[in-house]
Amino acid sequence: MWKGSLYVRPLLIGSEARLGLGPAPEYTFLLYASPVGLSYHKNLINLVVEDKVPRATPGGTGGIKSVSNYSPVFKVLAEAKAKGFSDVLFLDAATGKNIEEVSSCNIFVVKGNVVSTPATHDGTILAGITRKSVMEIAADLGYQVEERVIPVDDLLEADEVFCTGTAVGLNPVNSITYQGKRTKYKPREESVSQKLHKILTGIQAGSIKDKKGWTVIID
Ligand SMILES: *Cc1c(COP(=O)(O)O)cnc(C)c1O
Repeated sequence: MWKGSLYVRPLLIGSEARLGLGPAPEYTFLLYASPVGLSYHKNLINLVVEDKVPRATPGGTGGIKSVSNYSPVFKVLAEAKAKGFSDVLFLDAATGKNIEEVSSCNIFVVKGNVVSTPATHDGTILAGITRKSVMEIAADLGYQVEERVIPVDDLLEADEVFCTGTAVGLNPVNSITYQGKRTKYKPREESVSQKLHKILTGIQAGSIKDKKGWTVIID
């Protein structure tokens, strides 16, 4: 039975005995692998929108999986967690009006037949593989999938909001708090996130036929 994922993390560090500023003459490349469990429905996700500190800026490294993306969010994240929130939803640095992503996962908004996620072309959002897979599955199911600018106000009107990432899987959001106002999403009988989650994990586990060539069998 499928119980989780194997997270494979590469790490590259300059490892010569030198303190000067400059490209390292010697590097150590290491990889570590760690199993991650399933988190779907384990915790109710309650997000808070951060409207002062942006996560990433255009021209920066927000779009790649670099260590520089995490240390800037730790303070905001620790403060949010101390207040009882699960994670932080960041806004775009340029206008502070549009949603970008959560500290380590992508976000989707569902309204009627439309499944939207913030567009990644500014390089401020990490275009996760789970995000890409979920967009394809949603399109296959007949939803209208949009990558667009999503104003934070759209959250108030949404039927559902969910997060995606290898570590978090596909997780429905229970509530989002913005400027002190909390919007709660009602659990739905046949939610879009549930449908997408079932297919994604089914393909990963091999219980649904993979017609996309996403899975590789390792002997
Ligand atoms: C890892 C990560 C994601 C999700 O990417 P996946 O490839 O789906 O795991 C999204 N945003 C950030 C900032 C991340 O670090």
